[in-house]
Amino acid sequence: MIKLVTDFECGNGKNVKQLAEDRFRLEVDGDKQSGYCNYFCLDLINEGPAAEVTIELWEDSKWGAPTGFPAVFPTTLWFKPVGFHRYRPLRGQCPECIDRKVTFKVPVEQNQRLRVAMTYVAPYSEVSDALSAFADQRPDRCERFSVGQSVQGREIWGLRAGTPGKPKLFCVAGQHPHEHAGVWGALGIADFMSSLLPEAGALRDQLEVMVIPIANPDGNVAGRNAFNAEGLDMYLTFGETPDASEPEAHESRLLWKWVLDAMPDVWLNFHCYTGWKLNSEPPYDGWYEVEDRGLFRDPARRRLYDALCDTMRLETEALSTHERASIHRPTTMCHQMAKRYGIPHAFYEINNGTAGKHAGAQRGLHVFKRVANTLLHQMK
Ligand SMILES: [Zn+2]
Repeated sequence: MIKLVTDFECGNGKNVKQLAEDRFRLEVDGDKQSGYCNYFCLDLINEGPAAEVTIELWEDSKWGAPTGFPAVFPTTLWFKPVGFHRYRPLRGQCPECIDRKVTFKVPVEQNQRLRVAMTYVAPYSEVSDALSAFADQRPDRCERFSVGQSVQGREIWGLRAGTPGKPKLFCVAGQHPHEHAGVWGALGIADFMSSLLPEAGALRDQLEVMVIPIANPDGNVAGRNAFNAEGLDMYLTFGETPDASEPEAHESRLLWKWVLDAMPDVWLNFHCYTGWKLNSEPPYDGWYEVEDRGLFRDPARRRLYDALCDTMRLETEALSTHERASIHRPTTMCHQMAKRYGIPHAFYEINNGTAGKHAGAQRGLHVFKRVANTLLHQMK
């Protein structure tokens, strides 16, 4: 007897049908017809002998029209026995989207519960426990903080390290909840900044660093692609009205207040691409900028932003998706922080198809170190 379920933390999949003992079909549950309509995370529960289970994963039918599936697949499909400590790629299988679905085979052992997902999933519970452990075990080097509770009452946890009064470098990830490689990147920065490494110690003396790995906990737990519990996209912070006085989503208002109270010198925002079909060279990362550098009215801030853009272009893997940066729309938090308060950002996208927990942390950490280097040089 084999079952397919999606009703657990970070699960996504609906309209599950068992077509045969070893064959299922299901649809993803998307948020937007293009872009944010691809994430899935399912468990196979096998109460019988070992089997090879075929999964037909269909586009979300609720729009009655094709979605962004063909642009994202093929990508790495990640799997692990539930309770095991790491995902692995489903080797030899990177299915294309054909006739609105991808089809793949999953080997399930006897009496095993196996998780299969589009990303190396970063669950809110696991990330929160890691931050809590850093704070408990490294009280001389970091402390945990919260910027408040999500719509559904979850704390938006962060980790603070460094020296008050020094230049402030803030890091955020998980505005788009399924972009898990970015979450692993931010958690890697929190780990590094509270570590015993000499380089981390030197940065603690020179900077104040605050890291929020999951800015949208409700979306993470619910397995959403883009939305929070209100059905709002935190990246497009001001909805359709760039000049609105406040961000649209509850959690965006908390982040906005946190930033305005502290006025960081730079904030680093991690997002993700998935797959490589529209991308150029491995590891298929990317980055965004604001187009109009004149948004920074203070020449020193504009120079810092120019230097950060040089950093992303020349010292990171950001160029591996396109030959130039994508552009933030005026409704994004990055654009409005630049325009209203002159706060520069570094916005980096790690690829979910080429980065899981370890590679995500390493790429996030690399970007962080290069950004910190540029910030410290420009603040001299
Ligand atoms: Zn995103």
